Amino acid sequence: MYRGIECKIYPNKAQQLKIEQTFGCTRFVWNEMLNMINQRYQNNNELKMLSYPKLSALLPALKLEYPWLKDIDSVAIQCAVKTLSETFDRFFKGYSRYPKFKSKKITRQSYLSTIRGNNIRFNDNQRYIKLPKLGWVKCKSSVQHIENSRIKSVTVTRKSTGYYYISLLVESDNQALPKTGKSVGIDLGLTHLAITSDGKKYASQRLHLKYKKQLHYWEKRVARRRLNAIKNGMPLKDAKNYQKAKRQVARIHEKIVNTRKDYIHKITTDLVERYDLIVLEDLKTSNLMKNHKLSRSIASQSWRIFRTFIEYKCVMYSKTSMTVNPYKSSQYCSSCGFDSGKKTLDVRCWICSECSTEHDRDINASKNILNFGLEQALVK
Ligand SMILES: [Zn+2]
Repeated sequence: MYRGIECKIYPNKAQQLKIEQTFGCTRFVWNEMLNMINQRYQNNNELKMLSYPKLSALLPALKLEYPWLKDIDSVAIQCAVKTLSETFDRFFKGYSRYPKFKSKKITRQSYLSTIRGNNIRFNDNQRYIKLPKLGWVKCKSSVQHIENSRIKSVTVTRKSTGYYYISLLVESDNQALPKTGKSVGIDLGLTHLAITSDGKKYASQRLHLKYKKQLHYWEKRVARRRLNAIKNGMPLKDAKNYQKAKRQVARIHEKIVNTRKDYIHKITTDLVERYDLIVLEDLKTSNLMKNHKLSRSIASQSWRIFRTFIEYKCVMYSKTSMTVNPYKSSQYCSSCGFDSGKKTLDVRCWICSECSTEHDRDINASKNILNFGLEQALVK
């Protein structure tokens, strides 16, 4: 089973230079090759497209002409050619657009390198990762541990925030967790991100509120500095203050995304460890999705991430996940099945008129989701 792991890295000055140099060299090779392919086609459009081995065979000559290409990870250069060749394949099949030249001006830059022997590996406590031509690079401590897994490739990226990340493609063996014999239904909500049928409630983080002021502060500056630069006839790429404000905005967004993912990782790992069967509501059929409010749309992003994490972790740790249609999950009594009709959103607690059970609205819904799931599992 393959999965991707993303992790922030903290390269030192020399390593940063090397990474930037690699962005430049792989971009150069991509552009040179693309230019050559374009020229060749213009000269004779009857010629067949060069295959990857043929493109790759041109590299030694290119390195002879531009010796500085030898200073960086040669696999990364190989990968740039391979990716270009694959992009052409997809273009000829009609899956993607014609390959474009890569620009230095784009703030997001990246390169790919595949494993050779043991050249990409973590140290014992996973605080450092060894990368080709860079040596040991410090990485974020909260990276998921990857025992019993093999790294296949690494993509080094500089995001618009100016921070560096790696994303690893990792192949793992079956990592079955011990069975607990327990099942759970989960209701995804607004005030609480997740409510389990066992009565546990995981609070929502409300990050958009937490960072609203900060975001507004820098967004205002981006707009103002942009106008100033234009007024002074300065190209935006040279407007240092404008670029700085833009980077700040990107950093706040990145912070929100990372914090949210960390939080959802914690919850979903906890759930997959504690239960064998996890039943979620199918978000597509949720009638609440018709609501276009901002808080709802932000919550729905978290729900989608939540579901993706549950699904892949269940596969990875040999547990079962399923989704059910949540239709009337807040109307039925989870004890006796009596349909007590629609309730407005302000009704948080109610007592079943049939069996007098006292219900918390959300916990009752998650119990119903579990019941729907167990029924569905029986039918199969
Ligand atoms: Zn009842």
